[in-house]
Amino acid sequence: MTAHTHETDVQELKRAWLDEAIKLATNSVTNGGGPFGALVAKDGRVVAIGNNQVTANLDPTAHAEVSAMRAACRQLDSFSLEGCVLVTSCEPCPMCLSSALWARIERIVFSADRHDAAVAGFDDRKFYDLFEKQPESMWPMAVEQLDLPNRTAPFDAWLAKSDRIDY
Ligand SMILES: [Zn+2]
Repeated sequence: MTAHTHETDVQELKRAWLDEAIKLATNSVTNGGGPFGALVAKDGRVVAIGNNQVTANLDPTAHAEVSAMRAACRQLDSFSLEGCVLVTSCEPCPMCLSSALWARIERIVFSADRHDAAVAGFDDRKFYDLFEKQPESMWPMAVEQLDLPNRTAPFDAWLAKSDRIDY
């Protein structure tokens, strides 16, 4: 009974956060941003919010999820979002998924999916396809490795640094 009630509470909290993220996304449109909103929560409370600011900030990486994670890190004074939930109005694109992995996000909750976004002209599906189905040789961007003799010098310096903060 208690466990079941707790589970219901958790689900309701996630729905409430998701509803807030959707409202952030809708407000973002009104305020000149893209139609995406996100928030980061920890221990049952919202830590930070974000909306899409790609065109407003001339920043192609300023997706709602990245904006929310940056704000959450500042709020928590940490580069790790371990134990945090990323709640976003729409399924995260590959960049945001990657960013969440790097941030050590524990869980992602979203509502609209990549197909809903495509209907609105946001076709992230082609980037999912790049990662999931296409070899790098078929990407619209060249990825080239040049083997320079000092290629590991930065890592050597890092490993030799006694006061480094591992992450
Ligand atoms: Zn994204």
